[in-house]
Amino acid sequence: MKLTTKIFIGLFLGAIVGLVLHSTAPDLFSTLDAYLFSPLGTVFLNLIKMLVVPIVFFSITLGTASLGDPKKLGRIGGKTVAFFLATTTIAISIALSLAYLFQPGNIDIDTSGAEFESKEAPTVVETFTNIIPTNPIAAMTDGNMLQIIAFSIFIGLGLAMLGKKTQGLMDLLEQGNEILMYLVNLIMRFAPYGAFGLLASAIGSMGLDGAQAMFMYMVVVIAGLFLHGAITYSAAVKFLGKRSPIAFFKGFFPAMTVAFSTSSSSSTLPVSMKTAQENLKVPKSVSSFVQPLGATINMDGTAIMQGVATVFIAQVYSVDLSFAQLVMVVLTAVLASIGTAGVPGVGLIMLAMVLNQVNLPVEGIALIIGIDRLLDMTRTALNITGDAACAVVVSETEKKHGLEKEEKEAMHA
Ligand code: ASP
Repeated sequence: MKLTTKIFIGLFLGAIVGLVLHSTAPDLFSTLDAYLFSPLGTVFLNLIKMLVVPIVFFSITLGTASLGDPKKLGRIGGKTVAFFLATTTIAISIALSLAYLFQPGNIDIDTSGAEFESKEAPTVVETFTNIIPTNPIAAMTDGNMLQIIAFSIFIGLGLAMLGKKTQGLMDLLEQGNEILMYLVNLIMRFAPYGAFGLLASAIGSMGLDGAQAMFMYMVVVIAGLFLHGAITYSAAVKFLGKRSPIAFFKGFFPAMTVAFSTSSSSSTLPVSMKTAQENLKVPKSVSSFVQPLGATINMDGTAIMQGVATVFIAQVYSVDLSFAQLVMVVLTAVLASIGTAGVPGVGLIMLAMVLNQVNLPVEGIALIIGIDRLLDMTRTALNITGDAACAVVVSETEKKHGLEKEEKEAMHA
């Protein structure tokens, strides 16, 4: 049986077991969760998280070194960021249109008890200035992705410039990368059990309570996620990436199932990179640059949720948003999705920033928090698919610059 099928079965069984226990035997669920479901999920999560920091460091350093030329890095970086910004803007526009069309917030819902304490979100300037780490080792121990990416690019540039002088380190990094990729394979064998544990634990503790009142909101978010994948990514992959969208989704599906079970773009990174390199044939130098960056700053699924949630909250509290305010929502949601870390649930925290911007009550978040876990899983699967679509597009457009050939030569120099 294929691994993806096994993961799927794990997810499915986890959801069923969680649901049944939630509604028939909550006490038994608590015991099973404490001794079986949660530990299974946590072991799997920890196993893949263990690889994230070294994979980002090794692969970006190698990727930058094998590109060889700062100009090329600038070109790829420019295309990547342009793709991320464009697709996120489209994502949120789809979300706002759907929310206005289906009016999920026109419901009777009690908002009197709603409370939500928003955390201070970093400002845009802070996000940008903090990219350069003052202490790269601290960045690694903290798992600060953008800082690790920046440091790795510098080391990669150094390696490219010094060439033969640093060949020893280059070989070491390459061997390190081989080991890490081998470990991803090994760990993925445990994924079906991890997926089972994660789903049983998540669904068992929340059940589908509240899902009825929030049904329309959930449907609109999921429709937005689906449409963005089916239209935006398919078009990008087909017309810019010159690939069949069906082959793209089929090839990348294993990584999407892992993102769905973990609700974390960052944790899924080792798997999404490996899947893009092996199944979508994205050259390593592009994958290792585009995907870690994307897992950190490109979150189309999160932007979709934020767009729908903003309109939903406005409708629940009977606030009319002007066109200028909607443009503001698009801009802040794009920034919020850049600032959202690729870990579970952060998209909801960053939503406070969007709501504040257009003076909507932040307490509204309390209304959607209960069902957010389910949507978090779904949007994370889309978040990482956007990064993979970008990697496919960038690698295709780089072909004319002879990327693959040069990469091979650099690796075997
Ligand atoms: N869980 C999402 C991710 O890791 C972020 C979010 O929307 O909360 O991609």
